Amino acid sequence: MTESLDYLTAHSDDLLADLERFVTRETPSTDPSALAGFAAFLATYATTIADGMAALVPASGGPHVRVVWGDPERAAPILLLGHFDTVWDVGTLATMPFRVASGAAYGPGTFDMKAGLVQGFWAVRAYREALGGDRPVVFFCNSDEEIGSASSRPHFEADARRAAAVLVLEPSHHGALKTARKGTGEFHLAVRGRASHAGTAPEDGISAIDELARQILDLRALADAHLAHGTTINVGTVSGGTRTNVGAAEARADIDVRVATLAEADHITAAITGLRAHHPEARLEIAGGVNRPPMERTLGTVRLFERARALAANLGFAVDEVMVGGGSDGNFCSALGVPVLDGLGAVGDGAHALDEHIIVAEMPRRAALVASLLAALGDDL
Ligand SMILES: [Zn+2]
Repeated sequence: MTESLDYLTAHSDDLLADLERFVTRETPSTDPSALAGFAAFLATYATTIADGMAALVPASGGPHVRVVWGDPERAAPILLLGHFDTVWDVGTLATMPFRVASGAAYGPGTFDMKAGLVQGFWAVRAYREALGGDRPVVFFCNSDEEIGSASSRPHFEADARRAAAVLVLEPSHHGALKTARKGTGEFHLAVRGRASHAGTAPEDGISAIDELARQILDLRALADAHLAHGTTINVGTVSGGTRTNVGAAEARADIDVRVATLAEADHITAAITGLRAHHPEARLEIAGGVNRPPMERTLGTVRLFERARALAANLGFAVDEVMVGGGSDGNFCSALGVPVLDGLGAVGDGAHALDEHIIVAEMPRRAALVASLLAALGDDL
């Protein structure tokens, strides 16, 4: 498998040049024309990578790009997954230009996750041209990951259902691969009470704020009871009331929930939607839910990771595994029961931050790891 590293190291300058082409085309999730421009560029680019067959998948927010190598009917393909949208507006390059300094490449979307895309394409090229692999590979590149993947989800889920494994090219965590991600949810709690004069007729009122305070303590107790299961519950915002001398008729809170397992997702959802008012006449209205299921550390994922670790050692470097609190499209695929390994993209830091960057020398090594994984999984046929 070291042939893939030799091949990719020889092409190091090409990987970096491609990264510059990707980063200097800005792609905020909320700009359909910018995304359409990039999608057209990416589809053309993909056809230069070992004769990939690229197709645009229309979406109102901007098309996605699906690239296929080999015949997916012949054998279950390996699905590569990545996104080309970023959290950066068009014009960010003026103040945060693409630049290379001290071995790092900076710029909007370098780390999350245009370097991962470049590495994925070069990994396929190395797999097919340097390693002679011919297992079918599908690379789904979506344009809406940073805003929840609503339009791309049914498309890549269809590919994931047919795939033997899903390799997600999101950034690594300081080099570590992601074998589990928490599921994420958001709930909104509104309390309806009854206003009254705080001085002359407090007994006529039902304070929504008093009721909300009790609910927040109940949520704290729920969080404490489930901490050992990896669950976190955060009341992130509260508001309510109108004047100091008025008993509050309304109060509300927004709640962030993170869960490590599907069972916990169900349990916490039931507990929060089942909250009951302490005051007999207060009313609670509860909306929201868990919107990204957890990516659990399944046996299939552990096997993929162990394989990646051995392949990396063969290529001359060590990789660890980590569980992270944030979600990705790996969460959706994992919930379908397919083995998923995430964090196979760039090594660097500063996702969504001004110092976003990747380590240039890691690009060929990480791409070689993905090429080696494709070859190892291809041998399973
Ligand atoms: Zn990302």
